[in-house]
Amino acid sequence: MDEAADRLKIDRNTYKTLRSPRTSLTVSFPIRMDDGSVEIFTGYRVLYNYARGPSKGGVRYHPAVNLEEMTALAALMTLKCAVSGVPFGGAKGGVACDPSRMSMNELERLTRRYTYMILPLLGPDKDIPAPDVNTNQQTMAWMMDTYSMLAGYTVPGVVTGKPFQLGGSKGRSYATGRGVVFVTTETMKRLDMPLSGATAGVQGFGNVGSNTARFLHEEGFRVTGVTDLSGGIFNESGLDVPALLEHVKDRKKMGGFDGGEFVADYQKANERLIRSKVDILVPAALENQITKNNAAEVGADVIVEGANGPITSEADKLLAQKGKIVVPDIVANSGGVIVSYFEWVQDVQAYLWTEEQVNQRLKEVITESFSGVWNLAEEHKTDLRRAAYMEAVGKVVDVTRLRGIFP
Ligand code: NAD
Repeated sequence: MDEAADRLKIDRNTYKTLRSPRTSLTVSFPIRMDDGSVEIFTGYRVLYNYARGPSKGGVRYHPAVNLEEMTALAALMTLKCAVSGVPFGGAKGGVACDPSRMSMNELERLTRRYTYMILPLLGPDKDIPAPDVNTNQQTMAWMMDTYSMLAGYTVPGVVTGKPFQLGGSKGRSYATGRGVVFVTTETMKRLDMPLSGATAGVQGFGNVGSNTARFLHEEGFRVTGVTDLSGGIFNESGLDVPALLEHVKDRKKMGGFDGGEFVADYQKANERLIRSKVDILVPAALENQITKNNAAEVGADVIVEGANGPITSEADKLLAQKGKIVVPDIVANSGGVIVSYFEWVQDVQAYLWTEEQVNQRLKEVITESFSGVWNLAEEHKTDLRRAAYMEAVGKVVDVTRLRGIFP
């Protein structure tokens, strides 16, 4: 962000407001577990910046959740909303927990109590959570219900990524993956790379990774490898992604799928995936997956960041030196927040759009955002990440300047 501000020659006093979060809340609360014991959990919600509108960002359940990570991800959300042009600020929240070891009842109690603890920050005009790692439509339904019970009436617009029956949007559940694929094909067109017969590898097979693999497959890509925490599956002739999705849906793991070579150790599978000579690599699992230790081994020509922050800044420099093109997270995975914005608009207007309208508008918004960043990168002879940051920082600073400083 500092570099973007320098390049844009932004007034230091205005820019200073972007360097720290506006509101950070740490909460600690007890949950009664199914066996009768009580456990204390720590949760966070960071509203990084809301100069451009209500803050928006996911809720993550993971043992590694901490304030520093939430703050970094909330800053990224601020930039992502700005670069894609949706009228939101950025936030992120989460609870340090291991959901794989918790029952549905425990997760429901945890979600409801966490929502209650961060209630002063929430509201359809204030801060609007969405799903992130290890949270989903059901989590959003519990958050929306808890908020609504305390408000005394139903408030669908307080969260996005809800089930459709509760005011969710058609197309939201797969929007991030669909957006990743729109951005991938636009990048390839700009680079004159042929789409037909193109190959891809995807790390992570959750919401973002599985939908990315599915839409890449539908677009005619050969998806030659995918990995998740249960291992990896590889097939040089291209995986049958719909069959793999079906397999994983029932079993929740890749092992036993007979359409490719299975690697049970997920770290070994990731190493192989990262080295694969493919056109496109989509890291869509977690942050810090491509580091200075493995950047030199990346086999793909283009890396499209499905996850938030999957490439460390040292690795970014090494990839640039090797002439690799990186499409940054704040552009590549913005499909989720763009359709979240559409969901919020439908909720506050109480007027539903068709799936075709949602997908068409997503394509328009994300393609326009991508083109703006690509053109800015060419104009300033810089890479896509720097250009995206310049675009985003410029937009937030512009609004901050217009609003002035209170009081
Ligand atoms: P998810 O929980 O649905 O899926 C995460 C996947 O990553 C799982 O398949 C898991 O097994 C796998 N995984 C975790 N660690 C791994 C590792 N070390 N190696 C290989 N696989 C690993 O989460 P998600 O919603 O798909 O989010 C993934 C990333 O995308 C996160 O960085 C998130 O912040 C980002 N993101 C998500 C959305 C969204 O709409 N869900 C939007 C924008 C960005």
